[in-house]
Amino acid sequence: MTTRLLTSEHISEAAHLLRSGELVAFPTETVYGLGARVFDERAVKRIFLAKGRPSDNPLIVHCAEKADVKSVSSPLDARTQQIFDALYAAFCPGALTMILPKHPNITDAVTGGLSSVAVRFPEHPVAQALIRAVGEPLVAPSANRSGYPSPTTAQHVLHDLEGRIAAVLDGGSCEVGIESTVVNILSDPLTILRPGSITQEQLNAVALAQGFTPFVYADVGKDNQMIAPQSPGMKYRHYAPDAAVILASSLQESFELAKNHHPALILADAAFANGTSILALSEQSLYAALRTADEQGFRAVIIVCDETIQQNIALMNRITKAASRR
Ligand code: AMP
Ligand code: MG
Repeated sequence: MTTRLLTSEHISEAAHLLRSGELVAFPTETVYGLGARVFDERAVKRIFLAKGRPSDNPLIVHCAEKADVKSVSSPLDARTQQIFDALYAAFCPGALTMILPKHPNITDAVTGGLSSVAVRFPEHPVAQALIRAVGEPLVAPSANRSGYPSPTTAQHVLHDLEGRIAAVLDGGSCEVGIESTVVNILSDPLTILRPGSITQEQLNAVALAQGFTPFVYADVGKDNQMIAPQSPGMKYRHYAPDAAVILASSLQESFELAKNHHPALILADAAFANGTSILALSEQSLYAALRTADEQGFRAVIIVCDETIQQNIALMNRITKAASRR
């Protein structure tokens, strides 16, 4: 199969491919997603093959309108409806994924056999236009080979999936750069399953205003091992390049480490970046930098996790997973 590179003028073609049961990658504000129609079970199963993704790792359903939720979720009880409406008003469309009770029409292929379904409303205009053109929600995991860093450009998608999917819609670089914050609003207390650019503080401002107790992080247990993943990001190794990923606590320490891991690429605060062997580290740039390391043949990526970086829980979560061994 030849993978076509389409521009945002070709949304109707991309929608046609999806309606014919093909897989199409598309830009969202977080990372590129690998789309299939949510009610096309054969296409959904092909996503797992194309990515090499474990089949118990559920997919996020992407909707264009708030009303689309009715087709993928069963009716919400009053408590869930209240927090859903409040979080939707505060953060959607945007980088927030909410866990809802699944509609009977949603197959196990989508949910990994869970009774819940994850739903997000992407803000990216190309993503919204594509979902509307298809006329039904799309499942879309990150459009990378399973285990590798998520793609933040169409070129990253081609690198991983060329020949395995029908097309990729090019929407330039993703603005956020890391995956959505995933919250379980069915649990009491409300839980954060995966940290993202929408922070615990922001979520709690909404929860408290609605009379809920604060969001807590789900317990991932020792060594990030969970038997039945509440959120797949917790169980599987993720986001890792071929190069070894090593954490340093200061720039000085990174130079010391670099001597033993030659050639090494250093990621550090933008203030230290010189564009050649030290790249600027941010949510937006992390995955592209990890991919650059592999493309340019670096043996190691040394990431300087100073105090500012350590305060960014979502970024530290991705860095730690990238550094854990395969
Ligand atoms: P990815 O598409 O690779 O970014 O990963 C999909 C993400 O969806 C996982 O990391 C989970 O956090 C989340 N997810 C999808 N469905 C569910 C579900 N039913 N329950 C909990 N988390 C889910
Ligand atoms: Mg992923």
